[in-house]
Amino acid sequence: MNERDCIHCELPFDTESYAKRRAGGKINECPDCVDELGTETAVKYLGLSTGDGKAAALSIVAFETEADKRAYADAWKSAQGSIKGANGGLGHATGALNGAPVRHVSHQSGNPNSKGRS
Ligand SMILES: [Zn+2]
Repeated sequence: MNERDCIHCELPFDTESYAKRRAGGKINECPDCVDELGTETAVKYLGLSTGDGKAAALSIVAFETEADKRAYADAWKSAQGSIKGANGGLGHATGALNGAPVRHVSHQSGNPNSKGRS
């Protein structure tokens, strides 16, 4: 047990708690504020959205390092430009990316045949 007062909400929290270790952030920020304010900048998860149609496909990938995450994000952006409008964009884009040790944590496909589209 190692209690501190959060610099944001001034509530005491346990710096050694599971929630704090999961949330990250600075030593003087409680996990709630880290989550709420998004102060953890070293997070290695990146949400990608194809944004096609109403229900966007979302892919969350994990990276070994921050540099890998940035490299993937850059490649992702350029891949998005070249395959604009293609259905199942994530699948096509993934094929164009290489080098970064990417592990797909989850992938949820949006429904491209949403209302209003034929
Ligand atoms: Zn707080």
